[in-house]
Amino acid sequence: MMDRKHLNEVPFVSVENMMRLALATGIEQCLIELTGYIEEDFRRWPLFDKTPRVASHSKEGVIELMPTSDGIDYGFKYVNGHPKNMREGLQTVTAFGLLASVDTGYPVLLTEMTVLTALRTAATSAMATRYLARPNPRTLCLIGNGAQAEFQALALKAVCGITHLRLYDIDRTASEKCRRNLADSGLAITLCSSPEEAIEGADVVTTCTADKNYATILTDNMIGAGLHINAIGGDCPGKTELHRDVLLRSEIFVEYPPQTRIEGDIQQLDDDHPVRELWQVVAGEAPGRGSETEITLFDGVGFAIEDFSALRWLRGKIESGSGYCERLDMIADPDEPRDLYGMVLREAGRMAEA
Ligand code: NAD
Repeated sequence: MMDRKHLNEVPFVSVENMMRLALATGIEQCLIELTGYIEEDFRRWPLFDKTPRVASHSKEGVIELMPTSDGIDYGFKYVNGHPKNMREGLQTVTAFGLLASVDTGYPVLLTEMTVLTALRTAATSAMATRYLARPNPRTLCLIGNGAQAEFQALALKAVCGITHLRLYDIDRTASEKCRRNLADSGLAITLCSSPEEAIEGADVVTTCTADKNYATILTDNMIGAGLHINAIGGDCPGKTELHRDVLLRSEIFVEYPPQTRIEGDIQQLDDDHPVRELWQVVAGEAPGRGSETEITLFDGVGFAIEDFSALRWLRGKIESGSGYCERLDMIADPDEPRDLYGMVLREAGRMAEA
């Protein structure tokens, strides 16, 4: 019989513990480690269960469930996307997630994933940039300077060697917040008054804006030869960031086509428009950038396998004794498995005695 000890006590990582763990590890170190975990899972992509995420759309946003499994572990994330939240003092994106054992079906980790999503999204952009941008990119143009922004900048610094950051947001206070938060990062930061100014001299552009709209943050005239674009804010039907002409000029790389064709910027293109899957590039099964002048676009919407990688990473941290978790009494554990009702009755007895 298996050792049942502690199976009912599920490790739980709160927002506070996630922040402490990230700070104790070092944010850039977390981003480097997460990039490694995501890369590892992209290399074994075919063995995962894959499905477009289950999305419940409303006028103001979306609530999504993102499940996957590698046959040993099963993971899912609950995540929302509500651009109007920010104006009400709430997060646009919040999340929590769970990892479970396929063998028993028992959860092995429950965690906040708002901070973890920002880390894994940035790590995914960094991985895409490492595979697709021209060698030694130095300048990142970051358009949309909200909750995800600093993580994106630090991931490209830590993983790709970015040294210069050019910021633009329709709300200048967001860019100022970003500059303030990154003041000690070692990045040379320039605040810009327009997207056109921000993109000048950039090797990489990351768009991470939030607007439930067919937006055109980048238009064709802004895009110079050889640029790499991470477009991560267009991640929902009716929510895009790039003008269609930019898509038509770019080599497009995506996570999981059945999901990205619904949610990504490529929702603007015909269903048979050619795209390459990023995992194939990572696994050496498809070419990445073809030339110095090619424009490469990572149309990132966020896929369940990236969250699975993040959960694996976090479990490793917890198991290595970091201590940044609590134990939740989450799984009923009667002494005799079939005596669930008896367990409830015995509790009634204890309550009466108390
Ligand atoms: P946020 O609301 O905190 O920040 C968004 C920022 O975009 C705001 O500062 C806003 O002023 C700015 N903005 C809006 N329209 C703009 C425009 N036209 N030009 C310039 N700036 C503009 O949101 P966040 O949490 O930082 O998320 C950003 C986006 O990334 C969201 O759309 C979110 O859904 C998406 N996201 C994607 C992934 C992924 O895996 N691809 C993961 C997390 C979040």
